[in-house]
Amino acid sequence: MENRAKHLIFLGCGLLCAAALALGVASAPSAAEGPPEGQPAPAASASAASAPNFPIASGARLAGDDKQTRFILDLDRKIEFRAFPLADPYRVVVDIPQVNFQLAAGTGSAARGLVKAFRYGLVMPGGSRIVFDMTGPVKIANSYVLDAANGQPPRLVLDFEQVDRTSFVQSLAPESRPELKPSISEATTATIPAVTTAALPPVAATDSRPLIVIDPGHGGIDNGTQSGDQTEKNLVLGFGLALRDRIEKSGKYRVVMTRSDDTFIPLNDRVKIARSQSAALFVSIHADALPRREGDAQGATIYTVSDKASDAEAERLAEAENKADAIAGVNLTDEPTEVADILIDLAQRETKTFSNRFARLLMDEMKSTVRMHKHPLKSAGFRVLKAPDVPSVLVEIGYVSNKGDLEHLVSENWRNKAVGSMVQAIDTFFSKRLATAGPAK
Ligand SMILES: [Zn+2]
Repeated sequence: MENRAKHLIFLGCGLLCAAALALGVASAPSAAEGPPEGQPAPAASASAASAPNFPIASGARLAGDDKQTRFILDLDRKIEFRAFPLADPYRVVVDIPQVNFQLAAGTGSAARGLVKAFRYGLVMPGGSRIVFDMTGPVKIANSYVLDAANGQPPRLVLDFEQVDRTSFVQSLAPESRPELKPSISEATTATIPAVTTAALPPVAATDSRPLIVIDPGHGGIDNGTQSGDQTEKNLVLGFGLALRDRIEKSGKYRVVMTRSDDTFIPLNDRVKIARSQSAALFVSIHADALPRREGDAQGATIYTVSDKASDAEAERLAEAENKADAIAGVNLTDEPTEVADILIDLAQRETKTFSNRFARLLMDEMKSTVRMHKHPLKSAGFRVLKAPDVPSVLVEIGYVSNKGDLEHLVSENWRNKAVGSMVQAIDTFFSKRLATAGPAK
C-alpha cells in the first residue's frame, strides 16, 4: 500500500513537474495575470531592485462620484504604468515600477464614488502595485501620467467610469474573462510566475534529506492582520526565518522558504513551490486577529485542510486567509480548478493522515512552551494547504488583537521557545515516519 501510494504521489508530481518544465520555455505570459507578470519594464532586474533611488509617491486622493471617479497619485518624477480591470471581485490593478510610498496613514481606506478602498505596496522586487476594490463593474476611461506643471508635481491619473457587467467582461483580456476558464494544464503553466520559480535555489539531486517548506503568510502589498504598527506579514516573516535557521542548524533537513523578504506570493504559488520541490512537509505561519465585537481570543491554533470547517471561527479565518490573492490583485478567474483526478484523490487521503499526525505532534510540543487556543486543533478550506501530496499545516501563532499574545509575538525569547517546540515536533514526525515507511525513495 505504501509503495502504491508513493507511486500515485509520483504521478501527481509528474503532472506538475511537466508543467514546471513547460514554463521554462514558455514565452511572454498573457496580460491580465498575477503580480510577477506585471508590466513595469525595468522592474525585475536586480539592478533596479538594489537601486535605492526609487520614485517617491507623496500623496494620493480620489475625487468624483459613483458615475465617474478620478484617482490621482502625486509623484516626484514620471513613471511607466499598466492598468487593467479584474473580475470577481471587481478590481482595478495598476502595476508600476517599485515606488517608495510616503502616503499618510489610512490612505486608501475611505470609500469614494466607484472605489470602495485601495491598497498599495510591493508585489515583487522592483515592482509595486496599486489595487482598487470597486463597487461594481467599471472601465478605465482615461489613464495617463502628467508632467509637473503649475506648482503641481508629476501625477498619475486614472478615470473610472461605471459600466454594465456585459461590457465590463468584454473589456477584460480574453484569458481573464470569468466564463473562459483555461484548462488545468494551461492555467498551471500560465500562472506560475517566473520570478518565484527563478528565485528558488536549485536542489542538489544527491541530497536526500527531507525538504521542509516554510511559508510566512502575506507579504508586500498584503499586510495581513494588523495591530498598531505591527503587521502580520512582518511578524510571521521573522518567525519563519527563525524557524528556518533552527531547522537548518540541525543539519537533518533541507528548508525552502516561500518568501524570505517582504514580497507578495500568490497562494497557488506557495502550494506550487512545495509540490515542485517534492516537499515532505509544508508549514504556513500566520497570526490571526479577532474583530473587537467578537470578543477576545488568545493562543496558538493549528489548522489542517478540510472541506467542511470544524467551527465558525475556522471558517471565518480560512475565508480571510484565502482573500490574500484578491487583496494583492491576482486574477482569481485565472486560477486553475482543483485537480479532480482520482489518483490525486487517493494520494490526498494519505497526505491528510500525515497532516493530521503532524498537527497533533505539533500541538503536544507547543502546549508545553506556548499559550494555546482553547480549541487548538481545527480544520477549514485553506487554499494554501491544498497540495494533494505534501502534508501541510497552517499555524496561527497567536492573535495580534490580543494584548498578551502580541507581547509574545514581538518577543524574541517567546519566539525561540515556540520555534524550539516546532523543531521538536518536526523531529518526532520524521523519525516516526521513516520508521513506519521503511527506506526513503
Ligand atoms: Zn494570515
